[in-house]
Amino acid sequence: MDSSTNESEPSIVTYDKSNPFSAVLLKKFDLNGTGSAKETIHAEISLDGSGLDYEPGDALGVFAENAPDLIEAFLQESELDGQKVSHGDEIDLPILDVLKTRVDLRVVTKLVLSKYAKLSGHDDLLEKTADREWVSEYTWGRDWVDVLKDYPLTGCSASDFIGILRPLSPRLYSIASSLKAHPNEVHLTVASVRYEAFGRSKKGVCSTFIADMWDEGEKAPIYFHNNKNFKLPKDGSLPVIMVGPGTGIAPFRAFLEERAADGSSGKNWLFFGDQHAATDYLYQSDWETYQKNGVLDRVDLAFSRDQDFKIYVQDRLRENAKDIYAWLEEGAYFYVCGDASRMAKDVHQALHDIVAEQGGMNEDEAAAYVKALQKEKRYARDVY
Ligand SMILES: Cc1cc2nc3c(=O)[nH]c(=O)nc-3n(C[C@H](O)[C@H](O)[C@H](O)COP(=O)(O)OP(=O)(O)OC[C@H]3O[C@@H](n4cnc5c(N)ncnc54)[C@H](O)[C@@H]3O)c2cc1C
Repeated sequence: MDSSTNESEPSIVTYDKSNPFSAVLLKKFDLNGTGSAKETIHAEISLDGSGLDYEPGDALGVFAENAPDLIEAFLQESELDGQKVSHGDEIDLPILDVLKTRVDLRVVTKLVLSKYAKLSGHDDLLEKTADREWVSEYTWGRDWVDVLKDYPLTGCSASDFIGILRPLSPRLYSIASSLKAHPNEVHLTVASVRYEAFGRSKKGVCSTFIADMWDEGEKAPIYFHNNKNFKLPKDGSLPVIMVGPGTGIAPFRAFLEERAADGSSGKNWLFFGDQHAATDYLYQSDWETYQKNGVLDRVDLAFSRDQDFKIYVQDRLRENAKDIYAWLEEGAYFYVCGDASRMAKDVHQALHDIVAEQGGMNEDEAAAYVKALQKEKRYARDVY
């Protein structure tokens, strides 16, 4: 017998995106107060038995299931209820199983729409799909139930139709915890996506799976996504500035837990913003405790709707231009997390303007200063 194989040794399983770990949800609650326009779920997930670990700055991938009401509406509109389908290499699968976890019923792309038009013989739709502008306007807020209402399913098999739909992909969430503060756990901060469109209530697949369907004590598949470009400085004595409005706060909870556990001496400055202080100040008690025990040196808040005019985190940055520049000159790391479409651009512009104004630099010099920060990984963004 080969001495290198010992049957009594347990085999080491590595979990990743293609072999996700089935993790138990320990606890979840809404971070927003009564009367808020938002719902942001704090979720605590057990890593027990996984052998997995992560670092602050990494993200967690979650594989969701489609919501039962969406599946029901889809089956009703497609008239495919009760059918067996082939999917990938598998045959004779109950359609319900395939719709639950394997296909995206929400996202309608130009490619899939034109494939559908060809399959179902909707020549008028096929013609329209050549027009990129028409497609982007038509698909905004529409899911496959809406498409089937406008262009009913005809002329193809259930398997052919299901086969063209996009696979249901996992969603990433910035990790909101440090293993040093919560051994064997990973925490998330998830904003529920809910909106009305075309006469129906619509829900983001994964955010509302976490909010509505993943019950405490139940399992769901997860994996870790390393983000080497969004890490705390190795030297704990360096200051950090963290800009994280809304769910952008998530990795900074992880950063502060880690810095507190390490006893890092570097200064910490947090910028947070949302709609209203009374209902949307996420993790308020954590920040207050950190301020009391000296972990958090400064907190600047921007609640956009608590006064007649809007205030955002970039306004708070500009108000503190002198100190921000001083911290940067001391070697501070500057982090931004959250909305990519507007916030990150506005914060980037504010940083550039602060550097130009406080450093007495022209446009090119300020741009070079900011670029150098990025190159040294002292200006890092986790935006989506
Ligand atoms: C690295 C990374 C980190 C992230 N971290 C976090 C995090 O910490 N917390 C967090 O909450 N999210 C985070 N996200 C975003 C997250 O991955 C998901 O994209 C988000 O939860 C939405 O996914 P969903 O499945 O719920 O919605 P989906 O089913 O993907 O639906 C979202 C889509 O719905 C449509 N839509 C939304 N609102 C409307 C509307 N009003 N009208 C019409 N259409 C609309 C848009 O097409 C939008 O793209 C992160 C993303 C990345 C890439």
